[in-house]
Amino acid sequence: MKQKIEAFLDLVRQRNGHELEFMQAVEEVAETVIPYIVNNDIYHGNNILLRMCEPERVISFRVCWADDDGEIQVNRGYRIQMNSAIGPYKGGLRFHPTVNMSILKFLAFEQVFKNSLTTLPMGGGKGGSDFNPKGKSENEIMRFCQAFMTELCRHIGPNTDIPAGDIGVGSREIGYLYGMYKKLNNEFTGVLTGKGVTWGGSLIRPEATGYGTVYFAQNMLSLKKDSFKNKNVVISGSGNVAQYAAEKAISLGAKVLTMSDSSGFIYDSNGIDMKKLEYIMNLKNVKRGRISEYVKNYPKSMFNKGEKPWSTPCDIALPCATQNELDENDAKKLVSNGCFCVSEGANMPSTKDAISVFHKSKILFAPGKASNAGGVATSGLEMTQNSLRSHWSREEVDEKLKDIMLNIHNSCIEYGKQDDGYIDYVKGANIAGFVKVADAMLAQGIV
Ligand code: NDP
Repeated sequence: MKQKIEAFLDLVRQRNGHELEFMQAVEEVAETVIPYIVNNDIYHGNNILLRMCEPERVISFRVCWADDDGEIQVNRGYRIQMNSAIGPYKGGLRFHPTVNMSILKFLAFEQVFKNSLTTLPMGGGKGGSDFNPKGKSENEIMRFCQAFMTELCRHIGPNTDIPAGDIGVGSREIGYLYGMYKKLNNEFTGVLTGKGVTWGGSLIRPEATGYGTVYFAQNMLSLKKDSFKNKNVVISGSGNVAQYAAEKAISLGAKVLTMSDSSGFIYDSNGIDMKKLEYIMNLKNVKRGRISEYVKNYPKSMFNKGEKPWSTPCDIALPCATQNELDENDAKKLVSNGCFCVSEGANMPSTKDAISVFHKSKILFAPGKASNAGGVATSGLEMTQNSLRSHWSREEVDEKLKDIMLNIHNSCIEYGKQDDGYIDYVKGANIAGFVKVADAMLAQGIV
């Protein structure tokens, strides 16, 4: 089996060897899905996984815009349309200086499996730009979004490709992107998700990824007859996903000890309660400030410059910032300090070696493609509401989100339960996500 996996990876490497994040995502999937393919005749010999590794379409384009000083800036925009076997392409847009083809292809590849797990009819895609929103004025953000959409609008549509937010793209950016799409196409349609609730957005969409990450962890804990109550929780990030993961964990009775950004992490031994979280939300979403400012307001807390929060003793860890933010050493520290549950809010935050540590220690570990699928699932619910020209209540959407997270959890058990009873959620998510897409691809022929 090892040889088969290596032979497959060699083939993918020939074309993509320089794309490290993409290869990392493919390796993780290949190691769990190839043994399944080999044992299932209908998939064997059809090169389905190889086809899934090649994007259906890659769009790269120039984005020119003028900054507040009148200087002309040039950025690069992308959209990866990875797989449309089970529905139109769906996946976020990331605006961050590190954005490149490898990062977007890894995100698009993961998205295909994630969207399949939600059971909603959505293919996978991802896009973005190397534009850095930090330090830009409101007008510069708007002009960039408009310039970006001027090209992107040719490639997307409510039945073709429906982007959403990701790092650096929140409700403000979705507003500017949507406004430009509407102007260029002269139609009010559900072409983007994460829209404001008064103009086609869904209630609970902003909260959905963070809430879903906690719901998934809750499902894992309840198998062990445990819960969030009185647990110490360590969270990385302080953006959209981290904020709502914190909110849900606090509401379930947990004590949230840390949050972070790319400059370091804050540690509050008394716990970040709802009032303190409100301060963080205002700081990050309105003032666009840095997490270090928390300490000025709450002097009993600490700011650890340039550090990640994983050495903080905790019961539950929720990595909610970015890819590869938790490595083997971090994983060892978490486990040796008593952490027994990790639920990924970010995409691929744990390195392969970190995941091995979690698996060897037999702690509960949920990979992002399963545990953070609540965001895209609620985007799917937003698309349904747009098509029906209807608007569901907060409770209705939240119930549907909980159901979806439970179903994903159960699919992971179906394909990931080991002989000793341990649940390998990585294996479970990869195979369950693969099966639905593979069946559709087989039915649709060699296209
Ligand atoms: P935001 O832009 O709202 O927040 C990102 C947070 O992560 C910020 O606190 C940011 O800090 C921090 N961060 C970003 N890059 C780094 C880095 N290199 N090192 C340390 N910290 C970093 O993004 P989201 O909360 O939306 O996304 C977070 C993660 O969740 C991403 O992996 C994303 O792909 C994933 N995700 C998001 C979904 C969504 O619905 N938004 C859905 C599913 C997954 P700083 O401000 O300093 O940059």
